[in-house]
Amino acid sequence: MEIERSHGYELVSKLISEYYSNAEGFYPERISQREFGVGDYETKIRFRHLSFLSNNEFKEYLIKKTPPFVSCSTAFYKYPTYRPMENKQWLGSELVFDLDATDMKLSCQLVHGTSFVCTECLSAVKKEVIKLVEEFLIPDFGFSLNELEINFSGNRGYHIHIKKESTLSLDGNARKEISNYISGAGMAFEDFFTMEEFKRESGRTGKKLIGPKISDKGWKGKIARNFIKELGKGPESLELIGIDKKIARNLYKKRSLIEMGINNGNWDIVYIKNKEEFWKKVILNQAISQSDKIDKNVTNDPSHMVRLPNTIHGETGLISKKIKFSELSNFDPMSDTIAFKKGNLKVLAELPTTLTMNGEIYGPYKNQIVELPTGVSVYLFLKGNAKIIV
Ligand SMILES: [Zn+2]
Repeated sequence: MEIERSHGYELVSKLISEYYSNAEGFYPERISQREFGVGDYETKIRFRHLSFLSNNEFKEYLIKKTPPFVSCSTAFYKYPTYRPMENKQWLGSELVFDLDATDMKLSCQLVHGTSFVCTECLSAVKKEVIKLVEEFLIPDFGFSLNELEINFSGNRGYHIHIKKESTLSLDGNARKEISNYISGAGMAFEDFFTMEEFKRESGRTGKKLIGPKISDKGWKGKIARNFIKELGKGPESLELIGIDKKIARNLYKKRSLIEMGINNGNWDIVYIKNKEEFWKKVILNQAISQSDKIDKNVTNDPSHMVRLPNTIHGETGLISKKIKFSELSNFDPMSDTIAFKKGNLKVLAELPTTLTMNGEIYGPYKNQIVELPTGVSVYLFLKGNAKIIV
């Protein structure tokens, strides 16, 4: 059966128009100072340097033009439409972190590729958001929860916006320092560990490895706490952070002793050959596995544009929804962000795997005609797994 894809796009445009007619809550603060970019179904930002003077003007534009992607500057400008960028006269930018499942090298992606997203991908990226907030933004940078805004991207990631007044004026270099700190860039073993000489009972001198304590602030405490956490999970978990099988078993056996030592900064309770080399490898390995998931381009560039919260994502038909951090653990992107809820559509579907949406499991489909809820049909259509018939 030959079905034109353009037919589906017309229908989705109508749904988008309807969404913007009925929705509110997609107006950014200080709207007239923002630069906007809109996309089509091929390019997420096709036109930029757009500006709107009021919420009403913006709403009317969205209802009429039905762009499948709407991006907005994290920056405020005196003249958002001026070009080149210098002429816009930058007034400040929100600090933004972008976490995306695509950058996470997950085992499920070997099965479904990086353009599809499964429940496993979504829960992995959510866990990283919680880690970023609870282990870095709050304790190390001193931000409070009401200064953070969490935004599901509408596809497979999250954006975290920091709205604090004092961070607005940070330039590119200061932003880079923040993202480097979080990713542990430039961290060296020697920054955290020293070899301390001591006298044995026999009178001979020995060397003891002194390192971070569990109660330490910043990266020091994180290194100590994370190692203890891995240790508690068992020998397999230690092997995953680069420890040899035999040593892993020995460490696990003596874990309460080791924990007591690290509590006081003594990392030398158990005998390990070439201890300095050994811990160096373990610590560096851990630091990287913790935090290389942030897209630094987004954080470092004060004139970056990101998906505007509560607008439609044109690759899924889902809402790029604004959520409170306290709601995050119960938030289900594949249920809580469905924009097109009315009725069913008939589609010709080809889906090699399953799709879970609104608690229901759909597929697999082998080039077959099925009638599905509108939100599910649009999702499959936009992902290229279905053609819309009616
Ligand atoms: Zn997955």
